[in-house]
Amino acid sequence: MNLPFNAYFQGKIVPYSEAKIGVLTHALNYGTAAFGGIRAYWNADIEQLFIFRPHDHYRRFINSARLLCIDLDDTPESLTQSTVELLRADNYHRDVYIRPLAYKSDELIGVRLHDLNYAISIVAIPFDRYIKNDTSAHVTVSSWRRVDDNVIPARGKISGAYVNSALIKTDAARAGFDEALVLTQEGHVSEGSAMNIFIVKEGILVTPPVTENILEGITRKSVIELARQELNLEVVERPVDRTEIYLCDEIFLTGTAAQVTSVTKVDHREIGNGVMGPITSGLRSLLGDVMRGKVAKYRQWNTPVYADETQTKAFEAAAASNPK
Ligand code: PMP
Repeated sequence: MNLPFNAYFQGKIVPYSEAKIGVLTHALNYGTAAFGGIRAYWNADIEQLFIFRPHDHYRRFINSARLLCIDLDDTPESLTQSTVELLRADNYHRDVYIRPLAYKSDELIGVRLHDLNYAISIVAIPFDRYIKNDTSAHVTVSSWRRVDDNVIPARGKISGAYVNSALIKTDAARAGFDEALVLTQEGHVSEGSAMNIFIVKEGILVTPPVTENILEGITRKSVIELARQELNLEVVERPVDRTEIYLCDEIFLTGTAAQVTSVTKVDHREIGNGVMGPITSGLRSLLGDVMRGKVAKYRQWNTPVYADETQTKAFEAAAASNPK
């Protein structure tokens, strides 16, 4: 993986090589950091880079930090502005992944959350597919359990909690699977290692509710809205049993990195008729257009990076000609 060109670090944009922290930094030793994962999509037709739902991502980022007793001075708007400036400095003309981090920055010994300083960094790197086999993924049910709200809150994107995701992912990969689903302590389906899950049963879209130790995904939220508004689908948020996933018609995973990944096999059992189903493929292509700023109705989800006037006008015209 290539390193980023620049970093937003200590309040300004610096070359990435200058964004350095000491080995005693609290967050590095104790996992006391909150992070985000945002994508920006290049729209080649109008030569514009669009950040997807940055305000929603940064609202979650600020809340994740609050769980660590970090009260950020920044707002979703100011963090989005810093991200735009960083992407302009990097001058990317391709899809990228953006990683903001709010971390306990003191260099000292002592496990706690209070009486510590924090710092923020943001970097962006070129990024394409996260799950190679995203049209027919084979997943397993992990033997690990999802971190519980009363252990480390999964609704925060908290660095230390990602050891849980890493354990899940590595065991799945070493056993030859593309991904894994993880169950709650009670044995309900929670999510994937870094993605939410949807199943389709008799035309209804079902996904675990926010009380099942999931991260409240921005892609999940987008898919729910698109499914209801554009595909007229019923979407139900309710606990999902393990064997429901063996017997449903379609399964897909959603996430900023994973986008909409079709799952066609779980633990060697074929799902539906063993290929990507029509609801999964419909949502994949609709969300793909929306994320690239090609659908007028959802343009408020796309923040342009290169806001020069000609491009903005061209964008308006392109969006108006595709009014979904
Ligand atoms: N669950 C977990 C554990 C994740 O890390 C992610 C990725 N951020 C998601 C779900 C999907 O969230 P989003 O759609 O906001 O990327």
